[in-house]
Amino acid sequence: VRILGIESSCDDTSAAVIEDGVIKSNIVASQAVHEKYGGVVPELASRAHQQHIVPVVDTAIKEAGMKPEDISAVAFTRGPGLLGSLLVGTSFAKGFALSMNIPMVEVNHLQAHVLAHFIKADEHDHNQPRFPFLCLLVSGGHSQLVLVHDYLNMEIIGTTIDDAAGEAFDKCAKIMDLGYPGGPVIDKLAKQGNADAFKFNKPKIDNLDYSFSGLKTSFLYFLRDRMKENPEFINQNKLDLSASIQRTIIEILMDKFHKAVQQTGVKEVAVAGGVSANSGLRIALEQYAKEEQLGLFVPKFSYTTDNAAMIAITGYYKYHQKLFAPQDITPQARMGL
Ligand code: ATP
Ligand code: FE
Repeated sequence: VRILGIESSCDDTSAAVIEDGVIKSNIVASQAVHEKYGGVVPELASRAHQQHIVPVVDTAIKEAGMKPEDISAVAFTRGPGLLGSLLVGTSFAKGFALSMNIPMVEVNHLQAHVLAHFIKADEHDHNQPRFPFLCLLVSGGHSQLVLVHDYLNMEIIGTTIDDAAGEAFDKCAKIMDLGYPGGPVIDKLAKQGNADAFKFNKPKIDNLDYSFSGLKTSFLYFLRDRMKENPEFINQNKLDLSASIQRTIIEILMDKFHKAVQQTGVKEVAVAGGVSANSGLRIALEQYAKEEQLGLFVPKFSYTTDNAAMIAITGYYKYHQKLFAPQDITPQARMGL
């Protein structure tokens, strides 16, 4: 079975081909137009998707060593994401399916981030988590603790009540004028900074839910006060500020993660989404998994942020259940797991 995956939920246009669960190609065209605005501009994003989609799909199929006729089904991101962006991928998938006379499979972008762990590098790759496992899903728009019962059966046991972890990284980076997206920049600067230099308050929530908006606000007020005394404060302390804010975000994430492992009794854990690229978070997870003797699954860097390989693998599992989408399907900006 050969699945063409298409992802266009935000600002990356991506196409990938997966054959019997094995990756054959994964092409991502990122959109540089948003950088100067410090965030994704929806109107520009959908226009760029329109420009990228045909060459990106074409390259993905060629790089897989295939022709369009070789594809068994086309999987596309239905949501969640920006409506105008989702429309481009959805419309393209419909046209492709119709002209090739093959089925379409709708994919939930969040489910796909989790299922990225099942993409095989080759036929001999059996390094996959076993059910049930706990997945920390941390991206630009979501922060969730997901108990994964099966490929298509996932339960959210904790979620953010306001901002996502990636948003916290991006907003704190914006306050320091570090550019967009800020997560990777903070990650890089944090490596040279002292994480104990500054302390920020963590939210006090009893259940497994997250909150990050308070942290962003206290970071803003803290810097505003320091900048009044010394207008060079941010410039002089970028490394320590980055290390300290990153450490705080990781501690918030890990506190609930520990709790969730204890409550569920899982033996295997995983992390997914853009923030799972963070080196500090990876170290924290490795240490924790070692201490608690848990199996840990961390995705390849190319499968952390948005990519179509994860859409294709999700499509692959839905294909086997014959979960096909009708031709009149519409994208959905908001969608739960
Ligand atoms: P969602 O999947 O919730 O719809 P999204 O698709 O926009 O949101 P992703 O592409 O999964 O999100 O992840 C992007 C986020 O990951 C951004 O907030 C970015 O700052 C963050 N990110 C990427 N690399 C790192 C890193 N090394 N450290 C911290 N954050 C990072
Ligand atoms: Fe995403």
